Amino acid sequence: MRIAVVGGGASGIMAAYSAAENGAEVTLFERNEKLGKKVYISGKGRCNVTNDSDPAVHMSNVVRNGRFLFSAYKALSPKELIACIESAGTPLKTERGDRVFPVSDKSSDILSALRRLLSYYPLEIKLNERVLSLEKKGDVFFLRTEKEGYTFDKVILCTGGFTYQATGSTGDGYSFARAFGHSVTELCPALVGLRGDIPVELAGLTLKNVTLSARKGENVIAEEFGEMLFTHSGISGPIVLTMSSKVNRIPLSELSFAIDLKPAITKETLNDRLLREFQAAPNKALKNILPELMPRSLISFYLEKAKVAADIPAHSVTKEDRLRLVSVMKALPVSVLGFEAFNGAIVTSGGVSVTEIDPKDMQSKLVPGLYFAGELLDVDALTGGFNLQIAFSTGYLAGMRAAKS
Ligand SMILES: Cc1cc2nc3c(=O)[nH]c(=O)nc-3n(C[C@H](O)[C@H](O)[C@H](O)COP(=O)(O)OP(=O)(O)OC[C@H]3O[C@@H](n4cnc5c(N)ncnc54)[C@H](O)[C@@H]3O)c2cc1C
Repeated sequence: MRIAVVGGGASGIMAAYSAAENGAEVTLFERNEKLGKKVYISGKGRCNVTNDSDPAVHMSNVVRNGRFLFSAYKALSPKELIACIESAGTPLKTERGDRVFPVSDKSSDILSALRRLLSYYPLEIKLNERVLSLEKKGDVFFLRTEKEGYTFDKVILCTGGFTYQATGSTGDGYSFARAFGHSVTELCPALVGLRGDIPVELAGLTLKNVTLSARKGENVIAEEFGEMLFTHSGISGPIVLTMSSKVNRIPLSELSFAIDLKPAITKETLNDRLLREFQAAPNKALKNILPELMPRSLISFYLEKAKVAADIPAHSVTKEDRLRLVSVMKALPVSVLGFEAFNGAIVTSGGVSVTEIDPKDMQSKLVPGLYFAGELLDVDALTGGFNLQIAFSTGYLAGMRAAKS
């Protein structure tokens, strides 16, 4: 059985390994001069390779089509992936939120383990060889690269998503899939910052333990608690990335975003707190009292939204002013204009429709012998190691089933 794996990222490496492990004659095509460029930059260079939690926890972090992944997780669970990487010589550690990293904090050590796995079998790795086209005639796949033409019995497409294109994922797999009659659902950036109309002086400010909410009319569409930051062009940080994945299919013009700066305190308690602060220092300017309650650099933005003058002494703050101060502290409006550039997104949401792929083996329901794995599929997850696990699990299942069937 001759199998081509197109794309040498996380999913392709695992697909090639498992196909070879199951006896296939494997050729892995990678357009770059080396494998796994995206793995290398993942986790800020530390590679959050998976999440050491039950598959059920992983599923609850998958934004689109989690149910499609059951068989893939059965084929290679998070615990099995951890064991596999450690057995290939890279010890791992688990951090906050069950996030798994190499002990060395170097993504290059994950890549070393992956290369070691590949070295166990006599598979062929063709670097600097971009696949340009793919056709099936009879039972045979004809694959043309920029260098040569080849024939294979089966092909596993692992070309990745459409972001960080310098790593090689420029969307070739979508064209191959479409040429075979597959549908590709709308591609949207996910785990990406939001562009907004934010004063420059806020750039670099981090807010911790706040809640960011997105509303459509009166309805709260999404709400995230944790850390965020203001950038030169908008907002980013963990809760903003998560929020982006949850709202990326709704026109942003229909949503309004607000930050609750004091999510643990009710409006009434906050009102009492402000009253106490004002009574304790009646002659102090409002702007000099507020640092007790929020970062100094946020104060003028906040007061502008609350429509209260910064310099008035506390004793001059009217009840109406105070109630507005409370309301805005509980819901500081942030104007969001759009998503940051697609190419800067951590993952692509959307992709080859999973309705046309058998989840038990990752094989096309339209073209026997054609398999898909990784970010190319219409599956995406939140941060925490889930996206890499999806790539590894789907790659592993596709390789195994392609070799065995
Ligand atoms: C900055 C950043 C940080 C991230 N950090 C994490 C993290 O810490 N944890 C986590 O779980 N996820 C993380 N992710 C997401 C995760 O890295 C990806 O979801 C995952 O790598 C996708 O793997 P893949 O194999 O499907 O695609 P890719 O890794 O994109 O691999 C696709 C490969 O196919 C090759 N290719 C494409 N077209 C062709 C062609 N025509 N011929 C030959 N080769 C081709 C490409 O060169 C590439 O090497 C991060 C993503 C980014 C961008």
